Amino acid sequence: MKPAPFAYHDPKTLSEVTALLARLEGAKLLAGGQSLMSMMNLRFVMPDHVVDLNGVADLDYIRESSGRLEIGAMTRQRAIERSELVRAKAPVLVEALEQVGHHQTRNRGTIGGSLCHLDPAAELPGMAALYDAELTVLGPKGSRKIAMKDWALGYMTTALEPDEVLTGIAFPLWRERHGHAFLEFARRHGDFAIVGVGCLLALDGAGAIARAALVLVGVDVKPMRLDSVETLLKGQVPGPELWRAAADHALKIEALSDAMVSGDYRKRLAGTLTARALARAAERAGGARG
Ligand code: FAD
Repeated sequence: MKPAPFAYHDPKTLSEVTALLARLEGAKLLAGGQSLMSMMNLRFVMPDHVVDLNGVADLDYIRESSGRLEIGAMTRQRAIERSELVRAKAPVLVEALEQVGHHQTRNRGTIGGSLCHLDPAAELPGMAALYDAELTVLGPKGSRKIAMKDWALGYMTTALEPDEVLTGIAFPLWRERHGHAFLEFARRHGDFAIVGVGCLLALDGAGAIARAALVLVGVDVKPMRLDSVETLLKGQVPGPELWRAAADHALKIEALSDAMVSGDYRKRLAGTLTARALARAAERAGGARG
């Protein structure tokens, strides 16, 4: 199918973008088009106006500033995946990105698009939740910051107002030495995950767990931080029994059922992948072998 008729706008600056969003009814922003164009072709969305961000300056950057990794909304997923800075400072982002679609889609797809599209199984919103990232949006009333925990309101629904544009995402970096892991299970490589797990884990001088962060994607309409497991892990010595206890906790989540798999199956997957991710992150942090 082809999209319903729409007017195309090609702004060159953010102020032009916000002026268009303030003036136009029924406008959609175009980033990499890897979700929007298929949604338009299938007529799931029929915007009257498409405002193309691909010509707008200052939205494509990767930098470290004041202990945070700052990434511009229009930064291509492939650029993040291949960034030496990201690989050095937040390697779990690279591990997750390698699971996002195919490198062809990552050449065009952007981090901002993924966060705004907010597919329940999308890896990048999961990473933003793992790091308690902060998102910066710009609208006619100026710029505002939104914590990732407040960004996802529901199924493919964000806190973004219709006249706002996401401009950047900041990931607070872990200063302490830590391990990481991202694992997912999908029917085929390139498919959206049925369940994905992201993990960061830091050990103290005695080898016990000083800090842990765990996130699930694909089990709920938005990324799910496993707060109770993170609390359980604190102060414990890494090892298979602890991973099994963590997996048992993960089994207690409420998980989505859909045409693909049941919630029960997702819960079991979440438990298994949580244990494996923790073991891998602990090993990378210098702890016990999984
Ligand atoms: P677009 O498609 O251009 O836009 C997506 C939505 O976000 C639109 O509603 C748009 O209006 C809005 N938007 C975009 N940028 C902004 C902004 N800066 N401010 C406000 N609103 C904005 N994704 C995964 O996470 N995991 C996968 O495994 C995966 N597999 C895929 C497989 C295939 C074959 C394809 C085609 C896509 C796949 N995707 C997957 C989706 C892909 O990652 C998209 O890139 C992503 O979902 C959207 O990014 P985009 O830049 O293409 O955004």
